[in-house]
Amino acid sequence: MPKRMNAQKYMESSPVIRKIAAKEETAWINPYLLPFAVTDATCQLVVSDGDIKDAEKRLARFASFIRRCFPETEETQGLIESPLTRIPSMQKKLEETYGCRIPGQLLLKMDSHLAIAGSVKARGGIYEVLKHAEDLALEAGKLRVDEDYAKLAEPEMQAFFGQYTVQVGSTGNLGLSIGIMSAALGFKVKVHMSADAKQWKKDLLRSKGVEVIEYADDYSRAVAEGRKNSDLDPMSYFVDDEKSVNLFLGYAVAAGRLKQQLDEKNIVVDEKHPLIVYIPAGVGGAPGGVAYGLKRIFKDNVHCFFTEPTMCPSVLLGVATQEFECANVHDFGISGKTEADGLACASPSGFVTRIMTNLLSGEFTVSDGKLYDYLRLLYNSEEIQIEPSSCAAFSGPCGLLQYEDSRKYCESHGLDKEKLENAVQIAWATGGRLVPEEIRKVYLETCL
Ligand SMILES: *Cc1c(COP(=O)(O)O)cnc(C)c1O
Repeated sequence: MPKRMNAQKYMESSPVIRKIAAKEETAWINPYLLPFAVTDATCQLVVSDGDIKDAEKRLARFASFIRRCFPETEETQGLIESPLTRIPSMQKKLEETYGCRIPGQLLLKMDSHLAIAGSVKARGGIYEVLKHAEDLALEAGKLRVDEDYAKLAEPEMQAFFGQYTVQVGSTGNLGLSIGIMSAALGFKVKVHMSADAKQWKKDLLRSKGVEVIEYADDYSRAVAEGRKNSDLDPMSYFVDDEKSVNLFLGYAVAAGRLKQQLDEKNIVVDEKHPLIVYIPAGVGGAPGGVAYGLKRIFKDNVHCFFTEPTMCPSVLLGVATQEFECANVHDFGISGKTEADGLACASPSGFVTRIMTNLLSGEFTVSDGKLYDYLRLLYNSEEIQIEPSSCAAFSGPCGLLQYEDSRKYCESHGLDKEKLENAVQIAWATGGRLVPEEIRKVYLETCL
């Protein structure tokens, strides 16, 4: 267990942390943000452009296998990628409903609809399982990197992977992505799930032959138990969401692909046309990896904000206090219980809070009730349905010009009126496609 921190000290010295502890919706601007050029060299020591390229190439090698096992990826030739869509009706509805001004054009990055796992976890989670499988097969001499990886779907390879176990702790979606891909390769899979995990996610996993172990405790406990269980078994591999660099790399690949989608839409990102991105954060891995990749491509022309529930702002607290993985929402009198099951991580990733310290622009927090309001607005305006965790993204575009601190951020970063009118704002929808029909109905009717 990480050491406990002195939360009182931070509440006394910082008005914004007092607001966070009072569970008020807030904009928090990151005082540690630095110009990209200053951080470039240090960051590359940890995760380099070459590392991200390498991950991209690995996913390309696996495309023929993925295409063969998951026909839904036929259209994208075995790449797991999601659409980027303009949502002008939603933009207007948000402005009307909340009396906010959303300058520029608002787009939705629909990782909510990613193939196979139906969430952003189809990037990092699946990447890490593929990397592990490749490492094992290469080392055993059963695969060469220049071969067609479709052969991994054959019984002999499946039997080979069947000797090994993959384990992970999850609030739900990470378990789905790791579980589904591990099962497709033939691995035995154990998913350790926190109390926040939704029943339908557990049911779906069990239907794929995955062993689901449930804990009455929160996410950190599920991860700790999974890690311990896995360490006892030499044939077992633990996907460690609280520190994994491989997960991070899988997420970071999203950035180059987004660049390509922007190019296809003739959307320019440069000094005069800023890109502003809002991504929901749980432990920080997914938004961290995506944002890191974006910063490496667009540098100071991209502004990355995370969004978290007022009931579980752990990444915010980890960066704001510089206590990283030692920050815990409970120490600030916050329960960590939220309808946003995918974001219910009481402590953040130590790796991500560190590497994002000088790159993150800030955060917006959102109440649970708003998540359902956004969910309905999106459905009614664009006929797109996503899960509550995903909806946290909309607190960003609404909040940017509503809070004094984020308005000041715009001023101090040269985001004047004219530039903001030229801006592209992206709400990153992180999950939703696999939500069963009857639960979708419940979501649409939930008012808190
Ligand atoms: C996991 C998840 C996130 C956040 O990812 P982290 O890596 O935990 O920060 C956001 N939205 C959804 C739907 C998720 O499942």
